[in-house]
Amino acid sequence: MMRFADVIGHKNIIANLQSAIESERVNSGYIFCGPSGVGKNMTLRAFAATLLCEKSGIDSCGECHSCKMIEAGTHPDFTELVLEKAEIPVSQMREFCREAGIKPVHSKRRVCIIPEADKMNDASANCFLKTLEEPPGATVILLRGESTDRMLKTIVSRCQAIRLGPLKNEEVASFLLRENKTQSEEQAKELSIISEGSIGKAVSLSEGEAAEDWRWLKEILGNFTPAKSLVLADGLVERLSSKGNDSSSKRIRALELLDAMALLFRLRIKQNRSVRKSLAAIDLLWQASERIDRNVSPDLVLQSLSLNLVYR
Ligand SMILES: [Zn+2]
Repeated sequence: MMRFADVIGHKNIIANLQSAIESERVNSGYIFCGPSGVGKNMTLRAFAATLLCEKSGIDSCGECHSCKMIEAGTHPDFTELVLEKAEIPVSQMREFCREAGIKPVHSKRRVCIIPEADKMNDASANCFLKTLEEPPGATVILLRGESTDRMLKTIVSRCQAIRLGPLKNEEVASFLLRENKTQSEEQAKELSIISEGSIGKAVSLSEGEAAEDWRWLKEILGNFTPAKSLVLADGLVERLSSKGNDSSSKRIRALELLDAMALLFRLRIKQNRSVRKSLAAIDLLWQASERIDRNVSPDLVLQSLSLNLVYR
């Protein structure tokens, strides 16, 4: 269940949305935009649940029939356009707009959401625009997208934009600790610095292979000596095949490893540690990515990178 109380950060934005609910000045359209992983989805869903909640408070209660139905995905006054293809086809948009026009049957409003609003093509955007131009009285439409640049200006101008910026490092770190995504406070702090205000990015770096890479690279690059260059080269080559042995899987994997190394050196720069060496290392990593793009064998690129890192 999404509640405003559970959203990390964005206190002013939430206060504004709550005051609109309290004073009955809710618009018919909103666009939630901002970089990925900062909480657009959570904020939008908390807003939707609050608009439908039977308690009519400034946050959803999580307990009433309406809240339970949202959780179960069975609320009759809640419509979500689920993306089935790379872009939203006009047929799907037509059906969405038809539903948006139906009077609410349970709550006092109908809430309709389009979570990937930047995936409308021209036809579906124009179809949607008609609904926005003559919004059905009790319907609130919530759009979500990284930026409004890829949306029709006429759609953007008819909605209130809710712009969510990057979170503060402390907010990301406290989320990671609260959700047990990291093993230590130090790790939470590091991830919050390199994820640049995106919980989504921090979480993806704290799980699975990315977390493994991070742990290993930190250990080997932490106190890097010439003697370790061969260990680094062998380790990198070994990790290259984890997604498959064909050349395209290896290339993708090589770029992942180079990215992970770049993050590590960027972290050092942000922490004001070995700044000159780290900048030189990032330069080498950048050259290595270029060589991968030019189809040089990933094994060769990573091996020569490991040796070059030493002499800088
Ligand atoms: Zn409720």
